[in-house]
Amino acid sequence: MTELLPADPEGIARAAELLRDGALVSFGTETVYGLGGDATNAAAVAAIFAAKGRPKFNPLISHYPDTIKAFEDVTPNAIAHSLAREFWPGPLTMVLPRTAECRVAMIAGAGLDTLAVRVPAHRDALALLAAVNRPVAAPSANRSGQVSPTTAAHVLDGLRDRVAAVLDSGPCAVGVESTVLDLSGARPILLRPGGVTLEAIEAAIGPIDDGATDGAMRSPGQMASHYAPSLPVRLNAETAADDEALLAFGPAPRHAGTIFQLSEVMDLIEAASRLFDGLRWLDMEGGRLGLRGIAAKPVPETGLGRAINDRLRRAAAPRG
Ligand code: AMP
Ligand code: MG
Repeated sequence: MTELLPADPEGIARAAELLRDGALVSFGTETVYGLGGDATNAAAVAAIFAAKGRPKFNPLISHYPDTIKAFEDVTPNAIAHSLAREFWPGPLTMVLPRTAECRVAMIAGAGLDTLAVRVPAHRDALALLAAVNRPVAAPSANRSGQVSPTTAAHVLDGLRDRVAAVLDSGPCAVGVESTVLDLSGARPILLRPGGVTLEAIEAAIGPIDDGATDGAMRSPGQMASHYAPSLPVRLNAETAADDEALLAFGPAPRHAGTIFQLSEVMDLIEAASRLFDGLRWLDMEGGRLGLRGIAAKPVPETGLGRAINDRLRRAAAPRG
């Protein structure tokens, strides 16, 4: 049963406790209701994808109660500092390089070296984030393919019983998602238009690249250059050769060499939570040992298995 919590001190304390325990809590922000999970807990983040029924792992935004906390997990540049002063708290998300000590689980950033961070302009959301005292990963609190919710009732319509609690802070003020700006490269790039206008951003930091100047409009999905291992990946491998590393799924794999087990008990949430760390580790170990590639055991094409297979297929695809 989903708990409907009022946004008073007790409700916020309860929501924070659930999040710290690894449960999912939906909470209102000034943009839309988010489906929050402890971003430092890979299993909680995998559960977000499962609850949404998302067929792909796309990178999620990590939410913080203030700029100082947000900039503990990423490395800000001068533009990021200016934008934070101007627009945070507010509906602006910045994509920046992860720090070496970044606490956010790899699955929250879909395996990328960059991380999207935001400080929302909403009293209850900020109180919740401060009480959790950990980054909270939160996409919109709707099933995949449905519209973003702007009331607690919308969230319950779509996600009842898939979320431990909804913190009801009334209707959202902005109703559109945050603007996503990639600041990890040489020049800022607008990845998604949203609550903070391009004009306002340009007034603060000068002209930015909205994609129109260098060809086709860029959509966020295309922009998030997906993490891919440098070793070739072989899909649906029942066994691994001696000179291959094995990405195992299921009990007692017979392989004398390098193995990473996604989930011995074939739990798809556990497997998803370990996928990005596993690919990176096998790639590193395989490279060190001079192995020829990574053999990946089959994963069922159901539930989160779809998103796992989507990522494995991308990792196995020939690269240009
Ligand atoms: P949502 O979680 O639905 O608000 O969507 C988050 C948006 O931020 C998506 O469009 C993502 O593609 C984008 N995003 C999040 N993290 C990154 C990242 N590291 N690099 C590029 N885009 C990102
Ligand atoms: Mg969404």
